[in-house]
Parts: sequence; C-alpha cells; structure tokens
Amino acid sequence: MPMAIVVLGAGALDTARRIQAKFQQSRVHGLARRVNADIAYDDFGAHVRALYASGTPVVALCSAGIVIRALASSLADKGAEPPVLAVAQDGSAVVPLLGGMSGVNVLAREIGTALGVAPAITTSGELRFGQCLLAPPEGYALADIEQGKRFVSGLLAGDATRIEGHAPWLDDADLPRADHARFAVRITPFAAHDDDNLVIHPRCVLAWIGHVSPDDDVAERMRAVMRAQGLSPLALAALAAPVRYMTTRSLEDAAHALNVPLRFCDAAPFDAGDAPRIALHVSDAPIDAQSIGRARGTLTVIGLGPGSAELMTPAARAALVAAQDVLGYETYVRMAGPFRDDQRVHMTDNREELQRARHAFELASEGRRVVVVSSGDPGVFAMAAAVLEALDEGHAAHPEWSAVKLAIVPGVSASLATAARAGAPLGHDFCVLSLSDNLKPWSVIEKRIAHAGEADLVMAFYNPLSKARPWQFDRAIGIVKRYRDPHTPVVLGRDIGRPAEALRVVTLGELKSELVDMRTMVIVGSSTTRVVGDWVYTPRWYE
Ligand code: SAH
Repeated sequence: MPMAIVVLGAGALDTARRIQAKFQQSRVHGLARRVNADIAYDDFGAHVRALYASGTPVVALCSAGIVIRALASSLADKGAEPPVLAVAQDGSAVVPLLGGMSGVNVLAREIGTALGVAPAITTSGELRFGQCLLAPPEGYALADIEQGKRFVSGLLAGDATRIEGHAPWLDDADLPRADHARFAVRITPFAAHDDDNLVIHPRCVLAWIGHVSPDDDVAERMRAVMRAQGLSPLALAALAAPVRYMTTRSLEDAAHALNVPLRFCDAAPFDAGDAPRIALHVSDAPIDAQSIGRARGTLTVIGLGPGSAELMTPAARAALVAAQDVLGYETYVRMAGPFRDDQRVHMTDNREELQRARHAFELASEGRRVVVVSSGDPGVFAMAAAVLEALDEGHAAHPEWSAVKLAIVPGVSASLATAARAGAPLGHDFCVLSLSDNLKPWSVIEKRIAHAGEADLVMAFYNPLSKARPWQFDRAIGIVKRYRDPHTPVVLGRDIGRPAEALRVVTLGELKSELVDMRTMVIVGSSTTRVVGDWVYTPRWYE
C-alpha cells in the first residue's frame, strides 16, 4: 500500500518531497487552502482518520500530538493497524506512533536514513529483539500475536530461549539463548496449542487441487485436509490447480479465503500419487509461490480521470500499484506514473489502440497483471471498447484470452469534470458526442447533432477539433445554431484537472473554432441552461 505523506503547510513540503523520493508511489497530501501537493484535503482530522481506516501508512509532518488527537477516536480496535509516524516539519525528528506489527519501526528507520536522523524508537522489545521475533520475514507467519507478546515479555524479564527448526533470519539476532531453555522459538508447519513457546509457521505447504466440481467449497475442504494432517492453515504457501480450472470461481474464492496465491500448472508440481482431489506437499523450507506454474493473468482497463491525482479513483490507483505491465498512449502513461523499477511500461502512439489491446491480452495470457490506461473514463471514446473489440475478434484464434481476468475501472470523464468546474450544465438530459470523423462518417455526426438539437438536449462534445479536421467544428456549430438561441451558454473546459486548466463561458453566438482545440471539452447548453454569477447550470425541471 503506497504511503500518504501528509502536510499542513508549504513549510513541510521540502521534507515531504525528500521522504517521497525514497518511497515510490507515495503521495504528498496537502491542506487545500494552504499548500499545493499531489492530493488535496480539507480537514486534517477527517483525512487522517480515513487514511488510517483504509490501512494506508501515514507519515504526518506535524507534531505527534496533532496526530494522536486526530486518531484518538479510531484507536479502540487494535486489529490490523497501518504504520503511523509523526515527522518534524524540518525533518529533524522521526517518531513512530502506531503500527508496531505492520513495520512502523522499519519505516521509521528508512525515513530516518533518508533524512539523516536517528528515529525515536520507543518499543522496548524491538530495541532488544522483539521485532525480529514478532515480524518474521516473508515466507513465515507468526501463529499467535498475543502469545508472541507474552513470549517477548518473558524474554525481557530474563527468560532464555532456544530455537527449534530452521530460522535463518534469527542467526544474527541478539537473543538470550540457552540449549536447555524451557521456552523455544518453534519453526514448524504443524499446528499445536502451545502457550509457552513462540510458534512460527514456515509457508512450506503446497496444495494441488486436481479436481474441482462446480459447487465445491474448496477452502473448507483445504482446511479439513490440513487439519487431518495436523498442519496449520498459515503454513500454506499456495494453491495449485490444472490450467483448465483457470476461470473456476470456487478456486479463486478459496485462494482468497485462505489468503494464498493461486497458481496454474499443466501437471501436478509434485508427485500427487492417487489423491482424488487434494494432495499436499510439505517442503522443508518456505515455498516461493511465484516459482510454481503461473498465475491467472489480469487485464484491467482504468480511467485516470482528467489529470489531477485527486480525481483518480482509489480503485484505479490500486490497479496501478498492483500492475506489472502498464500500456497506453504516452501522455496518459506519463500521467499515471511514476512507476517502480519492477513495472514494465509500454508506451505507444495514440492511434494504435487495437494493436495495444491485443498486446495487453498477450501479456495477460502469460499470467501477468496488466493495466491499460485511458484518460477520463476508459469506456468513453477510449480503450475499454478497443479491448473488448480485440477480444471479440481474437478469442477464437486465442482461446487463452478468454481465461484472462478482465476488469474495467471507471474514471471521471472530461465532460463530468468540466461540468463540475462550471456548475451543473449537465443537470438535465444531455448527450455526449465525439466530433471526430476518424472512425465514423461525418454525415452521421451531422445527423446526430441535428437530432440532439431537435430534442433540446445539452450536448457535450469530445474531440472538437484537430489539425487533420480543421473545418468540422464550425460546421457542427452551424447545425447547433439552427436549433438554439445565440445567447445559449457554452462551457469550454481546457486541460481540466491539469496544471494549465482554463475554463471559459461564452455564448453560442461567440463560439468559433479558434476558441477550441483537442484538449478542450465543449458543453453547449439547452434552451433552459442559464448563468448565475460565475456558474452555469441546467435546471432539473422542464416544461
Ligand atoms: N476517455 C476520455 C475521453 C477521450 S477523447 C474521457 O472520458 O474523458 C479525448 C477528448 O476528451 C479530448 O479531445 C477533449 O475533448 C476531452 N478531454 C480529455 N481530457 C480533458 C481535459 N482534462 N480537459 C478538457 N477536455 C478533455
């Protein structure tokens, strides 16, 4: 989860950007009336509580007290808690506040290194040996956190311990060890009720689900099989299944319920014997799920919104964070960045939409997490339709494309963003038209404009004009003028949500092609659209 660096004023921006530089995908959140950052917020307390509730790590550049007060009402539930830190505006102090179990001290150290200061670590167990015991590395899971805390308290009070099993990350830890200690750190895939010892499960069990019937509860069956063999569900590394089950819902639900990756193989990755449905393989070290077969690929088509980060939906942001491959027109891909080193970026020309869509299916068919970006909403004159068109044409020749997990994530379309800036010109019935005749005959456009004029709809024009289409806009407006009064308000939104944003309101009589270009959204009012002060709106009623 990318972290939120929260600032209250411009004085903290320098420090915020220094921290941001070390954490790709992190965003600087600024109090809207005081500072211009990546994401704007209006109310510090509400904003920080919302971040906390969504599990977002928070680095607040203000006094610890302000953060504590803001979160006080949210602290009762000490379940999964994101890291929360206070950092002095000038970068001179880093104070981890919450999220000991989710790595706040690790984060504090990293931020401390970035700022050249020692973090104010206050957790006694952590200072001696707690963190390395209670937050085992990837591939291992702590059996019971409460039991773990009791165990660490015991060590702090003078108990000694020994290690049963293989825990390479503890080799260098400064633990009070004794070969015959009463209490042990036990590394085992087996579940046992154990109040005295610290139990850590290596994720070393691989399950092969050789057969699935439609209404199978695979998770329940998995738990039963593991229980029967005395294994903890936390020791499960992955579910693996034959490729033919790639689109089987019950398998996906099971992997989700068991919180493990789901992999697909052409044949069982180990000797599954004659087990009818589920076979388990227990390895002597954690298993890297990535090394087993391949994942079901995903293809997510997202809309970035008009341009600014705060108008991008959290779902689109989450898809970008999860992406392994990002495809799109160069301008939009740049808008979606920055990207991590492990993410592959494929930028193409704006006109190669079908080609890009096919490429996206090819990558996803290999098991990759692919994101295709559009501006605004992906379903409005953008990539979602191109992706479905590619599937429509290509699925017979490429049956593997149909197994890809496809999702479309909506975005704020330019007409909606422009309308909001201007007021509510789309407050009553309206239509949306692209004036580009690249993919449809001009005669169709003229006919539709005439019908929309006749029907007294507000009209939102996308793609109003380009160098290759110099005369069309004036022709279109000529048709509108047959049906509308010259005083009809027209909203022109250019680069809405981007740094060069410009909004103009003119009358239909004043409208001409010199006022628009490809980066402009044109909204022509209906007979009822009116102006109040700086605002344009279309009333909800109609007579
Ligand atoms: N999928 C996009 C539209 C793509 S068509 C969406 O839903 O917004 C491209 C046209 O959208 C441009 O020619 C322009 O008319 C409009 N447009 C896109 N982004 C815009 C912005 N930030 N400000 C104004 N108009 C924009």
